[in-house]
Amino acid sequence: MLSVTEARERILSHFQATAEESLPLIECANRILAVDVTAPHDLPLFDNSSMDGFAIRASDSSIGADASRVTLSVVADIPAGSAPTVTLAQGQSARIMTGAQVPAGADAVIPIEDTDSNFHEAGTAAPQTVSFTRTVKAGENIRARGTDLHAGDVVLRKGHILKPQDLGLLAMLGFANVKVHKKPRVALLSSGDELVEVGTPLTPGKVHDSNSYAIGALIQNAGADVLRLGVAKDTRQSVEGLLQKAVNENVDLIITSAGVSVGAFDFVKEVIEANGKMDFWRVHMRPGKPLAFGEYFGKPFIGLPGNPVSAFVGFEVFVRPVLERLSGQLDGTRQTVKVRCEEEVLSDGRESYLRAKVRTENGIHFAKLTGHQGSGNLLSLVQADALLIIPAGVKCVPVGREVEAILL
Ligand code: AMP
Ligand code: MG
Repeated sequence: MLSVTEARERILSHFQATAEESLPLIECANRILAVDVTAPHDLPLFDNSSMDGFAIRASDSSIGADASRVTLSVVADIPAGSAPTVTLAQGQSARIMTGAQVPAGADAVIPIEDTDSNFHEAGTAAPQTVSFTRTVKAGENIRARGTDLHAGDVVLRKGHILKPQDLGLLAMLGFANVKVHKKPRVALLSSGDELVEVGTPLTPGKVHDSNSYAIGALIQNAGADVLRLGVAKDTRQSVEGLLQKAVNENVDLIITSAGVSVGAFDFVKEVIEANGKMDFWRVHMRPGKPLAFGEYFGKPFIGLPGNPVSAFVGFEVFVRPVLERLSGQLDGTRQTVKVRCEEEVLSDGRESYLRAKVRTENGIHFAKLTGHQGSGNLLSLVQADALLIIPAGVKCVPVGREVEAILL
């Protein structure tokens, strides 16, 4: 039997990042950068005022140190967005607004609050003179060109997930389009004669298809598009018919749930074998021992177990890393932390992923299981916020012992 790590490495070795595409900035939230981004210009791009006030020559203010009043003539009015044309000479100042470019000759801004021109109403005309009684240091209230970053600096790295603040910075730097990796496209198939769609009443022996929803949402949350193939009956024709759509659409990955065990009606396995390649593995893990990997008409295929919790865990352990690789993402999105078990946890020696609730006290995480760990018990997954990883070979974790946990 393969270890989880061996199985994951084998699967991952078949994938590489999707091609890049250039997208309008507005469409780039949560997309993965395909290139390092280098600043085309400094930020700030020009010396500008951080306050509404008066641009002055700091040396003109030194007389105010002994509390005597300094009075300067106001020779220009500089609203934000204008390019000042004056050069301040000794004894001169210019009214200036926040974000406006500092005129030549000025090296400081005194805020209006510190002057005799402390008017806050919009539309107030600039005064002829301004006076104040304090010393102003050179550089005061000026955001100097290049203080945040310089032209040529690498500001974002290839493989980074673009967050809202990243889009803001890219806009500041003038990028109308950004090179990102294409979204991976994943086909998703449920299989089983017992499955009916939600909205259709259950008749004896039937259950609702839940994997299409849980796994479909996981795929989308991992940044990929889902092609929903629906539910295949346990017949060769039904499975082949639905999988054909995945081939036609040229998806990056086919994911199925159920139908790959050794049951008499497990046709997914048979259909994959007939039209591609199938590696059927028993992975030394719990839940979700049976895991299928292969290709169908050249398209990579991962067969998850049918039981809802096993399918979910299989996704986290095997599919999420594949989607991260396909999407070009460099850092994993799931965080693992050390948690202290608040109860004795028993395992069967396989690498186990157990549903647990974590609470944090004084910086220490404590974990309790959320109920029985049957692989169909989705409620216990709903109540969990972590999967405890009990390493292979461990059959009992005593109270107080630390284990790794994946935060969900
Ligand atoms: P199988 O892998 O076909 O033996 O299925 C294992 C268990 O998972 C059975 O109890 C199935 O009814 C259940 N199951 C399989 N597929 C789904 C699904 N899409 N939604 C909910 N339960 C499922
Ligand atoms: Mg079945």
